[in-house]
Amino acid sequence: MDLIPLPAFADNYIWMLHDGQRALVVDPGDAEPVFGALQRLGLQLQTILVTHHHADHVGGVDKLRNATGAHVFGPARERIPEPLEKLNDGAQIEAMGLAFEVIDVPGHTAGHIAYYCADLEGRPLLFCGDTLFSGGCGRLFEGTPAQMLHSLDRLAALPGDTRVCCTHEYTLSNLKFARAVEPRNADLVHYTAQCEEKRAQHQPTLPSSIALELRINPFLRTRQPEVADAARAFDAKAHDDASVLGALREWKNQFK
Ligand SMILES: [Zn+2]
Ligand SMILES: [Zn+2]
Repeated sequence: MDLIPLPAFADNYIWMLHDGQRALVVDPGDAEPVFGALQRLGLQLQTILVTHHHADHVGGVDKLRNATGAHVFGPARERIPEPLEKLNDGAQIEAMGLAFEVIDVPGHTAGHIAYYCADLEGRPLLFCGDTLFSGGCGRLFEGTPAQMLHSLDRLAALPGDTRVCCTHEYTLSNLKFARAVEPRNADLVHYTAQCEEKRAQHQPTLPSSIALELRINPFLRTRQPEVADAARAFDAKAHDDASVLGALREWKNQFK
């Protein structure tokens, strides 16, 4: 099984899994890169997974479904182009012969879901949309810091070797902020250098892994004293884990 990120728009990736014959894509905001890959690799699109309702994640769904007959899965609590199979937390689905579990991750949007496969050729895999990014997390458009904290906690509890497939190439800008939060984090310095080299060669920095994110992502590290102190230096009212996360998110929104 091959896992490839198809670049779309300015910084989206449409993740594709294929076995040389059949393909699955996640959050196809644009149909064209998917059609291109299907043709180039001689694949039949079988499944579309959608994480949330934003246009850059669903814009290509109708075209792809109409052209290929692919089965569409998406969150039950959001408006996604129909027909689709609507999923709630804990749902188990099968696609491409793989078992995926649905995890509710509200925060970026109210009904955002993630897809977790415990075993893709011996390693777990996560499609997390705009909830978790490498070095960052999604903006809180429809949810509270407490909801996002709970969602990120659920993802952080997945096995460390889980490959994390995020939808945006935001890594370098996230890491710039992360270094402002934790200037003494040596893993962060090392990882930044690796990512800068990849981007200089136009390579994706993704997928990441849960183990790596736990070491470098301030939004998964709100309970580290250095991170909480830095958040409080930005907003003195940040008193508990959720308000620390809220302060970090607000700080990141203003960060240049
Ligand atoms: Zn989004
Ligand atoms: Zn997005």
